[in-house]
Amino acid sequence: MQYRNLCGEKVSILGFGTMRFPILDKNQKRIDEEKAEEMLDYAIENGVNYLDTAQPYHGGESENFVGNYLKKRDLRDKIFLATKLPAWLIKEEADFDKYFNEQLGKLKTDHIDFYLLHALNAKSWQKIKDFGVLQWCEKKKAEGKIKHIGFSFHDSYSVFKKIVDAYDKWEFCQLQYNYMDLEFQAGEKGFEYAIKNNIEVIVMEPLRGGQLSKDPPLEIEKLWQKFPQKRSYSDGALQWIWNKKEVPILLSGMTILQHVKENIESANEAKIGIFSNEELDLFENIRIAYLKRSPFFCTTCKYCEPCPHGVSISSVLGLYMMNVMYDDLKRSQFSYDFFLREENRADKCIECGECEPKCPQQIEIIKWLKESHKVLNKD
Ligand code: SF4
Ligand code: SF4
Repeated sequence: MQYRNLCGEKVSILGFGTMRFPILDKNQKRIDEEKAEEMLDYAIENGVNYLDTAQPYHGGESENFVGNYLKKRDLRDKIFLATKLPAWLIKEEADFDKYFNEQLGKLKTDHIDFYLLHALNAKSWQKIKDFGVLQWCEKKKAEGKIKHIGFSFHDSYSVFKKIVDAYDKWEFCQLQYNYMDLEFQAGEKGFEYAIKNNIEVIVMEPLRGGQLSKDPPLEIEKLWQKFPQKRSYSDGALQWIWNKKEVPILLSGMTILQHVKENIESANEAKIGIFSNEELDLFENIRIAYLKRSPFFCTTCKYCEPCPHGVSISSVLGLYMMNVMYDDLKRSQFSYDFFLREENRADKCIECGECEPKCPQQIEIIKWLKESHKVLNKD
């Protein structure tokens, strides 16, 4: 295993994301503990020293399982433990302590090494900021209960910049970042802005939840064949991230032992500057080829929002793009059904036309919302 510096700590370049353990039931809650323990054992024996969990993972069971595992193996002092404040559940200032103490209890520890404000977006950030989350974080740091403070993020670049600018003591942030998502959410601009502001970047979703490890369509497969060294699609995607000296660690949510083995093999071969400029151009060509599969390119900038009638325009269009780019109808339909409330779906568009002139990509929003609902709605 190789190690890089994150906030002054020596962390393995591969971190274990604990949201996709093998499960025993359909609702993702009951972790198959025997298999999950075997995966963690293998990862840790091979040098992984960073575990990332969160309050909602596996319906609240991930923190419990990780805490029990570390205790059982007596590993707490050898592992950097990351968990996150569920920002969307906070209703009053007292909730900061309530959730944090619950997490310490579940994780069977007296401190968290890397504590993140989870999945910040414009709304959740404003709310917890008004409740004094930054002052609360500083208090916990002073008490030694949190070692490093940061946030994970799912919104547009402009919101990311606002959060970065609001506080000069962020130590790290966690971003969805891979060779495809350069213009998605915080994107490349956000990555660079964080670095410029001395905020370290932990990379999440390096394989876009598995989309970048699947066999690609033929035109993209042909581009992969041009690489001088043969790599699996996942290895290529991971190496693209480790290639950057600014990235201390990437997190992978592994589901089977084979994933752990493959990722560790990749991590052992990682090197800063492993790719030539020609190879980096090939990744860019692959990105463009994926984008070309979509009839429009929504960058999720959200300039068109809010829609006065409640439609989550960027989320709907993003899911439509995900389907056509990665041939992933099943997951797109699932996300449309599971993550989007009925009042935010595309069929709530009354075609008032307010949004379209605001779109810098000149997307025919009304037309594509109709098409998206037709394709994504399972009812
Ligand atoms: S055209 Fe539809 S999506 Fe756009 S603002 Fe009007 S109702 Fe909302
Ligand atoms: S539809 Fe246009 S304005 Fe709206 S998020 Fe997408 S790119 Fe931005």
